[in-house]
Amino acid sequence: TSANDDLKALVRTIPDFPKPGIQFRDLTTLLLDAGGFRATIERLVDSVETKVDLVAAIDARGFAIGGAMAEKMGAGLLLIRKDGKLPGATIAEDYALEYGTDRLAMHVDAIAAGSNVVLVDDLIATGGTARAAARLVARAGGHLVGARFIIDLPDLGGSAALRRVGVEAISLMEFP
Ligand code: IMP
Repeated sequence: TSANDDLKALVRTIPDFPKPGIQFRDLTTLLLDAGGFRATIERLVDSVETKVDLVAAIDARGFAIGGAMAEKMGAGLLLIRKDGKLPGATIAEDYALEYGTDRLAMHVDAIAAGSNVVLVDDLIATGGTARAAARLVARAGGHLVGARFIIDLPDLGGSAALRRVGVEAISLMEFP
């Protein structure tokens, strides 16, 4: 939305990464800007109207954003990691990549029953990553109150797919 054009101007677009024809939206430039980073976190926090117990952040850029949000919101921070990194008993969910699959994991005992959880990542494209994370939160007994992203690529359908399964999905900006 035009309200966040100041932040959108801080996102860099790298053509042909990771392969020809892909326009990679690079958020590192937004995070490097002190005012841009602060405003990003403030606006994401303001978009969460329900009191949440946990911010569930997705490996790895989601950690930077979700961590800052959780501290401001007085919530705990749940790290949803790429499989194989967590030391305790885990549950895992697979999701489709263009070629093959990947797997996200979390500690099985991370969520107290009935906790309100908001999911956070830097960007949603096809939504495969976010939907796998949402399944983990549900399996672990959490109540997902919504999902937040800095960037939505709506043409790839991920935010619409989240909404179809009943998850409120809000992003600060869209790119075609
Ligand atoms: P999805 O599973 O297709 O929705 O892809 C989302 C995941 O891929 C997120 O964790 C993003 O960090 C990453 N991703 C996909 N495209 C981009 C991009 O253009 N810029 C930055 N990250 C991206």
